[in-house]
Amino acid sequence: DLYPVSRALLSVSDKTGLVELGQALAAHGVELLSTGGTAKALRDAGLTVKDVSEVTGFPEMMDGRVKTLHPVVHGGLLALRDNDEHVAAMGKHDIGAIDLVVVNLYPFEETVAKGAEYAEVIENIDIGGPAMIRSAAKNHGFVNVIVDVEDYATVMTELTENNGQTTYALRQRLAQTAYARTAAYDTAVSTWMAAQVGGTPRRRTVGGTLAQTLRYGENPHQQAAFYTDGSARPGVATATQHQGKELSYNNINDTDAAFELVSEFDPAKGPACAIIKHANPCGVAQGTSMVDAYTRAFDCDRTSAFGGIIALNQTLDAETADAISAIFTEVVIAPNATPEAMEIFGKKKNLRLLTTNGLADPAQAALSFRQVSGGYLVQDKDVGRITMDDLKVVTKRQPSDQELSDLMFAWTVAKHVKSNAIIYVKDGATVGVGAGQMSRVDSTRIAARKAQDMAEAMGLPAPLTQGSVVASDAFFPFADGLITAAEAGATALIQPGGSMRDDEVIAAADEAGLAMVFTGMRHFRH
Ligand code: 5GP
Repeated sequence: DLYPVSRALLSVSDKTGLVELGQALAAHGVELLSTGGTAKALRDAGLTVKDVSEVTGFPEMMDGRVKTLHPVVHGGLLALRDNDEHVAAMGKHDIGAIDLVVVNLYPFEETVAKGAEYAEVIENIDIGGPAMIRSAAKNHGFVNVIVDVEDYATVMTELTENNGQTTYALRQRLAQTAYARTAAYDTAVSTWMAAQVGGTPRRRTVGGTLAQTLRYGENPHQQAAFYTDGSARPGVATATQHQGKELSYNNINDTDAAFELVSEFDPAKGPACAIIKHANPCGVAQGTSMVDAYTRAFDCDRTSAFGGIIALNQTLDAETADAISAIFTEVVIAPNATPEAMEIFGKKKNLRLLTTNGLADPAQAALSFRQVSGGYLVQDKDVGRITMDDLKVVTKRQPSDQELSDLMFAWTVAKHVKSNAIIYVKDGATVGVGAGQMSRVDSTRIAARKAQDMAEAMGLPAPLTQGSVVASDAFFPFADGLITAAEAGATALIQPGGSMRDDEVIAAADEAGLAMVFTGMRHFRH
C-alpha cells in the first residue's frame, strides 16, 4: 500500500510552514507545481517551481477565479494509476500525474468574521481549491491531500520513513480530513448566505474542527471529542487554561453554562458569581466585592456547590481565590485572574482555572442545535431579554423598588435553569433554585425545601426565602405553585403570564398580598 510521491501541487492562502514543506519535498526529489502567490513564495526561498499556468497553457484569469480548473490538473489528480485506460488517456493528452496536493483555501471564514462587505465575501469563496482537494481525496488510493498546516510534519515524517512513499492508511486519513474541510467550508458559505437571505433554509449542515479528544463522554463507556466552530467570542472554547488536568465532557458543558449565565451580569454594575452543577445553577449572586458575590452564591446551596463550576464576571482576586479554595471545586472561569489569585490556586492541583479575557455577549445572535433521532433541531439561541418597561403589574399591590430589582435578577437566572425553573431571590442572590422538574409546583417546593435545609445547616432562624421574590420560567398553570411560593415567604413574583387560569392565579396572589408582574416572554430550557 506504499505509493511514491513524485510530483506535488501547492496552492495555499495561508503560507505558514510553506517554505519548510517545499524544501523537504525538494529534498525527496519531488517536482513542485504551484499557483501565483505560492510559487513566488517558494521561489523567493530559492526553490525550483513550475507554474500551473505553464502546465495548463492558460494564464490565471478572472481575478484568480480560474487558476487550476483544467483537465491537465484534474486528470493528473483523478487518474487511476493501475487502470490501463486512465494511463493511456494521460499519455494521449500529455497529463502528468500529481501525487500530492497541498491546499488551504481562501480565508472565507476570516473574511466573514472581520465584517467584510458582500462582494468581498463572495470573492473569498474558493472554487479551484476545494475542487482539487475533492479530486485528490477521491483518488486517495494514490494521491495525498493536505489541507491543514498541522499535517505537513506527519506527511514529511512518512516520506522520510518510507523512502519517499506514503502508506494507504495515511492517504485515507488525509482524504477524510480533506472532505471534512470542504464540507465545513461549504457549511460556512451556506450559513453566511442563510443569514443574507433570512428565513429557514431548506438544507442546513454543521461543521467543526477537532479541538480536543476527550477521555470519555457523559459516561466512561462513551467516546467523545470537542469540536470548535471557529468563533472567536470569549467562552469555554477560546479560554486559556492555566492549571489542572484536561477538562472533561461534563466540565466543558457545565463551564459553558456557568460562563453564559454570569455573562448576563454587566461587570460595570458590580461583581457577580454563578456556581453550576449538572448544567444548572446552585447559586448565583451579585455582591459588593467578588468574594462577597461568591460567598452569597455559595450560601444558596452549600451542599450542591461541592465539586461545582464557578464563573465570575470580573477578575478573580486573591480573596475570592482563598474563599473558593476552602472546598473542592472543579473549574473556575473568569475574564482574568490576578497573579496572587493564580498563586493561591497553584496549590490546588486538581482545580482548573480558565481565563477568557472578556465576557460573552448575551445579546449576540447565534444558533443552537439539538440532536434527535434522524436529524437535529435548529433554533435561534435564547437571547431574549426584557427591561423594567416590559413588565406588567397584574396584582393590586405594586412591587417595591427592591422587589423589582430582585425580580429582574431572578428572571435573568431563570433563563439559564432547566425547566420547570423556579428561582427564589433575595437582595441580588438566589436563595432557592428548583430545576428540571416535570411539575412546576414540585420545582417550587424543592427550592423552598432546600432553602429550609440551608437555614438549618447555617443556624439561621428562618429560611432565606422569607421575604424573597420568585421567578418562574413559564406561566403557573394553576394557583398551587404560587401558593407554595407564598408559604415559603415569597412576597413578589415574575412570570410570563398567558395561562388559561391567569385570573385564578392573580386572585390567589391578591389574596396572599403578593405583587406579581408578567413579562410576556417565556424562557423554556429543556
Ligand atoms: P496563490 O497565493 O498561490 O496565488 O493562491 C492560492 C489560493 O488559490 C489557494 O487558497 C487555492 O485554494 C486557490 N485556488 C487554486 N486554484 C484556484 C482556482 O482555480 N480558482 C479559485 N477560485 N481559487 C483557486
